[in-house]
Amino acid sequence: RPGRRGLDWNRATRFMAAEREDYVQRNPASAVLARQAAEHLLFGVPLHWMNDWGTPFALHVEHATGVDVVDVDSHTLVDFCLGDTGAMFGHAPPPVAAAVQHQAARGYTTMLATQDAAEVGRLLAGRFGLPYWQFALSATDANRYIVRWIRAATGRKKILVFNGCYHGTIEDVFVDLVEGQPVQRDSLLGQVHNLLEHTVVVEFNDLPALEAALANGDVACVLAEPVMTNIGMVLPEPGFWRAAQALIHRHGSLLVMDETHCISTGPGGYARAHGIEADAVVMGKPVAGGLPSAVYGMSAALADRAVQAKRQAPPGHSGIGTTLTGNMLAMAAMRAALSEVMTEAAYAHMLALAERLADGIRAVIARHQLPWCVTQVGARVEFQFCAEPPKNGTEADRVMDPELEHLIHLGLLNRGVLITPFHNMMLVSPVTTPEHVAQLLGSLDEVLAAIAARA
Ligand code: PMP
Repeated sequence: RPGRRGLDWNRATRFMAAEREDYVQRNPASAVLARQAAEHLLFGVPLHWMNDWGTPFALHVEHATGVDVVDVDSHTLVDFCLGDTGAMFGHAPPPVAAAVQHQAARGYTTMLATQDAAEVGRLLAGRFGLPYWQFALSATDANRYIVRWIRAATGRKKILVFNGCYHGTIEDVFVDLVEGQPVQRDSLLGQVHNLLEHTVVVEFNDLPALEAALANGDVACVLAEPVMTNIGMVLPEPGFWRAAQALIHRHGSLLVMDETHCISTGPGGYARAHGIEADAVVMGKPVAGGLPSAVYGMSAALADRAVQAKRQAPPGHSGIGTTLTGNMLAMAAMRAALSEVMTEAAYAHMLALAERLADGIRAVIARHQLPWCVTQVGARVEFQFCAEPPKNGTEADRVMDPELEHLIHLGLLNRGVLITPFHNMMLVSPVTTPEHVAQLLGSLDEVLAAIAARA
């Protein structure tokens, strides 16, 4: 495994065993709750991937505010995972908490708009630069719906994604390149349709492959994160998006930017900050401060075509939307998050501190002479087990090492620091402080000192 160069794997294995034992000793109340939960929860947790933290049993949380996660054994953990972005602006941000509290006794769901609807639309249009918006309960669903609208609007059936992408559980995107050949992702459970029929997959940063895939004129849209953030991190090469955009439009296709993670870049996401003109934008996770809600916006031209498609369709189920979508509570939370939490001032703090974090991790890695790299997208920082940042999904996938990740994550957790359980991602929130960053860096230094090959 390329990522293990510079490590002493015997030391690492002993360290992992000791950390597992330490976790068991430190967390007796979580152990009891995990045993009780296992009686009636499949896999012992509310969502089976909550086991992906790699802890001996699930950590149980007492409460979370700001960047403090207090577990049921009364440890206060500094949170750099932040719910894998749902709580990117801190847990229970006060303006959202106040809005939720206000709405709490005033109804949650009527299938009618409240006075928040028009204002949220105005805030989204101003922030992302697209005029028309709709809602969903998750980024997954927002992606599903925008793809449906675009297929309906264009009459084209295919979508194009980049190898190694993740856009939630929207089925269509689980197609990978294996040795250059498209295959359905084999981890996908219960999938009975042939996804290869309507999904085209190419490598990120590969303009010739993109052009070849678009040339048939049958791709409705390209669905992409502006920076790949779900397979480690892969930055677009300079000029990639400008050229890609031109190709997409030349072939009559549309560009959907999934900003769910890249909203870490700035208030309007990565595309807005880098002059990428998307036809549609999707954003979920933190848009309502971590309450279930997501949004998708369209250009005026796409909105026209979507409205036409709806008018021309026979009356009946559109297949787009769910009953609780745009509910009163979510709209109130979104209004507060967009107007009072995801502010320019918040971003100024996050971006400066994330830079300090990225530099600090580089220094720790260098101190232990490890051939690893650090990539930053605004408030989002990732370290990867390779000396040079990967250029595409295949390269990024090759250096993933779940066993090594779990070891590092558990070592950090036992030292009071949480980072995302999948790959090595950290988020800096508006309430993260330099002291929190120092704690992460000190803990990482200790963990790496325990597993690095001694010079
Ligand atoms: N888009 C991107 C880019 C994501 O990273 C994710 C989740 N990691 C999603 C969409 C789906 O979000 P959710 O699980 O909240 O539906």
